[in-house]
Amino acid sequence: MLRTLEKEAVVMQEARRLYGLLHRVSKSQNEKWTLEDCLAAAPYTLAINRFKKEQNAVILAHSYTTPDLVYGVADFRGDSYELALQARESAADTIVFAGVWFMAETAKILNPSKKVLIPAGKAGCSLADSITGEQVRALRAKHPGVPALCYINSSADVKAACDACVTSGNVYDIAQKMPGDKLIFVPDMFMAENIAEELKRRGTPKEIISDGGSCCVHDKFRPSEVKQLRLQYPDIRVLAHPECSLEVCRECDYVGSTKGMLNYVAKSDGKIFGLLTEQGLVNRLEAEHPDKQFVWSCGVCSYMKKNSLINTFGALVEPRPEQVVSVDETIAAQAKKSIEKMFELAQ
Ligand code: SF4
Repeated sequence: MLRTLEKEAVVMQEARRLYGLLHRVSKSQNEKWTLEDCLAAAPYTLAINRFKKEQNAVILAHSYTTPDLVYGVADFRGDSYELALQARESAADTIVFAGVWFMAETAKILNPSKKVLIPAGKAGCSLADSITGEQVRALRAKHPGVPALCYINSSADVKAACDACVTSGNVYDIAQKMPGDKLIFVPDMFMAENIAEELKRRGTPKEIISDGGSCCVHDKFRPSEVKQLRLQYPDIRVLAHPECSLEVCRECDYVGSTKGMLNYVAKSDGKIFGLLTEQGLVNRLEAEHPDKQFVWSCGVCSYMKKNSLINTFGALVEPRPEQVVSVDETIAAQAKKSIEKMFELAQ
């Protein structure tokens, strides 16, 4: 009886810790995280944090995963670039990557001796799944001598077929540094338009040859939404991700990566922000900036939301085959050159 009561007290204490972090965070447009939600999560966060220590594992959570992962069990939270750096430097035996497959694959490529697990299994991405390495090689054959960049949201085989990869935080600087006046960029057709516009603005225009698809979350936004926000909230600052269309980005006050948006809000003297991105980033801003107001009609990435406390626990205790990340060695070696080139050019 006493042991049961003691266990209940520990769970309640953990639930209160979570609630302290999450009570301002939206679950949906009309709901915030409640103490009951945190009570349901607490046994899992306690168990995951214990197993993590026992197995010398580290948990990397992308900002687009759910807040119970981001604030309950993650050792590091961030965007693709920040988490790739963490994965490369990690001394842990096991890296648990709460994100989508291409991210976990990147972690394995950068730190191949580690066991890399992804709770969501083979979680895809509409961008990464839009083009293959073979298609990129065919595109390059049509444009001999033209350097090729790929967005980090791509498969290892696509990375292997390109000269360097980029993230939304360094894409413009790296595109500008590439030689020549033409550039192949895959797989984000919207980001390709944004690169062309930004390079023209910087006075270093290039013809961008692109192929691939778009992010199924960011391609939904329209310029009319930005105009509507400005009518409703005259002092609003509107922020968008460069995976949004050029027409949308032109209407915004700031266009940048997940980290860039977090920094913009932190430094801004504005009080109200409109966000054209994934809900997970809104959740981070709500948790970390209680003095500011966020207006959003954000999309939800169903791939990222496949990660949960339950499958994170399962991956740590007894991973299913699809949760264990492996990459063909030849492709990994070639893809690693493309990723390392990004780190070099991003300096
Ligand atoms: S938000 Fe878009 S780019 Fe990011 S993982 Fe989801 S589908 Fe892919």
